[in-house]
Amino acid sequence: MRAPVETSEPIIQARNVHKSYGPIQVLKGVDLDIERGEVVCLIGASGAGKTTFLRCINHLEKIDSGALFVGGELLGYKHEKRFLREMRDKEVCRQRAEIGMVFQHFNLFPHMTVLQNIIEAPIRVKSVKPEKARSLAMELLDRVGLADKAQSYPPQLSGGQQQRVAIARALAMNPRVMLFDEPTSALDPELVGEVLSVMRDLAAAGMTMVVVTHEIGFAREVANRVAFFDGGEIRELGTPAEVIGNPKSPRTREFLRRVLE
Ligand code: ATP
Repeated sequence: MRAPVETSEPIIQARNVHKSYGPIQVLKGVDLDIERGEVVCLIGASGAGKTTFLRCINHLEKIDSGALFVGGELLGYKHEKRFLREMRDKEVCRQRAEIGMVFQHFNLFPHMTVLQNIIEAPIRVKSVKPEKARSLAMELLDRVGLADKAQSYPPQLSGGQQQRVAIARALAMNPRVMLFDEPTSALDPELVGEVLSVMRDLAAAGMTMVVVTHEIGFAREVANRVAFFDGGEIRELGTPAEVIGNPKSPRTREFLRRVLE
């Protein structure tokens, strides 16, 4: 387990976040502060709202009410005179560029090489010079143990390798925060370890990470805090020793009993 991180202003602040899809209320008032350098794992049963919450942090889903701040900046809205105005697409893109996201199904472009996948966004969105983008991409590929795959195409790689490329691609934007949405759940069991190992290294290097995961062992070992989502709310929040080792809520106990048996 990692030592608690203490800094002044949380890098992510969620305030009473609500989100519905039609009549289905998926988030029912989520409050969560995440400190710089902290790793927070979101656990809970299927449908509890974990992925939706993660996607709201990246503005892939719009919240209905409440507020989300990243680095002290309100997501998706701007104060203009005395009113809040919804941001334009370009402004949303700028905010999103600071938040890396790794998806369950990698989402790499299959017709581009690994290297092209990684340099595409820094060049297009951040106007990084191609030469610089390439050398950074090679450093990142080295970091995730895939320097020899730069010229391969994603379909030529295993799932674990593709997910490591996806992590390198997200890091290439130099994000302040990395969001992971069940990054190992589409992988064959023997490939899970290599992805968790890259994530472990990233956490050790001080990256702020929010991870939706069913890997309770990973949460126990790497997270500073664990949030148990239940029915669109955070039912329990604390250190892994508290939430996983000694859960207070009967709902958390029941969930852990099912996943750990
Ligand atoms: P899992 O572990 O299965 O991914 P989760 O806790 O991440 O579950 P969400 O994916 O956030 O849960 O889904 C919460 C609820 O919202 C579910 O009932 C889901 O069907 C619903 N939902 C999610 N996305 C949409 C959408 N785009 N349109 C309609 N309903 C949605």
